[in-house]
Amino acid sequence: MPITPLHYPFAYLISKTNRKFSLPGLVVGSVIPDIEVPIMWVFFNNLPDHLFLHSLIGAMTVGTLLAIVVTRFLYPVIISSTFNLPKEDLAEVCRITPWFIASCFIGVMSHLVLDYPMHWYNPILWPWVNPFDVIGPLVLLFMPAFSIQTAFFIARTLTHIAMIVLWIGIGYRMYSKGDLWYRHWVGDPPTEPAALFNGE
Ligand SMILES: [Zn+2]
Repeated sequence: MPITPLHYPFAYLISKTNRKFSLPGLVVGSVIPDIEVPIMWVFFNNLPDHLFLHSLIGAMTVGTLLAIVVTRFLYPVIISSTFNLPKEDLAEVCRITPWFIASCFIGVMSHLVLDYPMHWYNPILWPWVNPFDVIGPLVLLFMPAFSIQTAFFIARTLTHIAMIVLWIGIGYRMYSKGDLWYRHWVGDPPTEPAALFNGE
């Protein structure tokens, strides 16, 4: 995994491709698969710490369902109280609609897409293909010159740097437009042409 929150910038960029996407659905979806990591450490430490939720089958089913439940029921409560954002607006973007479900699903998939190139093993096709047979392309790129662990370290560091730079850029743009936390957690504020006409 890249450090889990570093999945945010990718989810945010996807949200920019269509206004109908729910940013919260994408964001929660993009971090959900990593909740299996501590569970694997504690309960199944003889297995890889990325397994079920990092497989296509697990991500498309349990992963997406978890993202829907967490975004619908926990996200609005936690984000509105932590960042003092309007509950109604959060409830609106976390309402269960086809686009909301699609956002959660695509968010979870975006996690797999970002993890895959930089990881030295990938359970994408688990349980049919052994995770240790699927080496990420970015790791493969450095393997002729380095050990697999060093190649993984370089691939992971490069991914982290790219995501941090992106996040700084995204944050700066939100900050200059105003309503930083609203844009970060809810999405772009709705434009209100009617209110402008009324001079409100
Ligand atoms: Zn991960």
